Amino acid sequence: MRDFAIARRRMVEEQVSARGVKDKRVLDAMLKVPRHKFVEEALEGKAYQDAPLPIGEKQTISQPYMVAVMSEALALKGSEKVLEVGTGSGYQAAILALLADRVFSLERIPALARRARKVLDGCGFSKVNIRLADGTHGWQDMAPFDAILVTAGAPEVPRDYLDQLAIGGCLVIPVGDRSSQVLMRITRIGEQEYREEQLMGCRFVPLIGNHGWHESA
Ligand code: SAH
Repeated sequence: MRDFAIARRRMVEEQVSARGVKDKRVLDAMLKVPRHKFVEEALEGKAYQDAPLPIGEKQTISQPYMVAVMSEALALKGSEKVLEVGTGSGYQAAILALLADRVFSLERIPALARRARKVLDGCGFSKVNIRLADGTHGWQDMAPFDAILVTAGAPEVPRDYLDQLAIGGCLVIPVGDRSSQVLMRITRIGEQEYREEQLMGCRFVPLIGNHGWHESA
């Protein structure tokens, strides 16, 4: 356990702070969440490395630095209602649970949703709500959201995310082709008004669904 805490501190210092992530709440959250619990046991020893890791079903847990950048980009203060698309391992959802008030997370693969539920409960993150669904429609019943974080690469921004964003809220989403994307931040500044920023290049697994990529392509 102690070894993992040391590895976690090094991860935050060397991979996250050193590269310019400053939000203290994000750094604290990453020091707290036991990332090794969110990967398969055989990969535990690699959990704090500077890389994404496989989590089964051809999906990955994002690189720690990318989790930090996306979390910081949402500029959460603690009182927000947040939607994540792509629960995967549940790691990013756990980080969001420490940064915001309410977290809703959508996953399309049953085995991953099940495992994430178990791990999140085991780590004390039962307040994260997970739903098995095609997340390209967002989560209409729970909208509006103060922040929406998409952790899979989209061919374009699904309209439902823009509609489900509260005014003043922001959407962080990788947009591009199937293998590489640009991380975008879109802030809703009025009923019909949005501001768009490009944050950095990135590589995510594809967002698959009705308003995403086709599964077979
Ligand atoms: N945030 C995750 C990493 C996610 S990898 C973590 O912290 O581990 C991307 C995830 O998005 C995969 O689990 C994939 O199954 C899921 N996904 C892809 N398309 C989706 C969709 N349309 N709706 C919901 N989840 C989707």
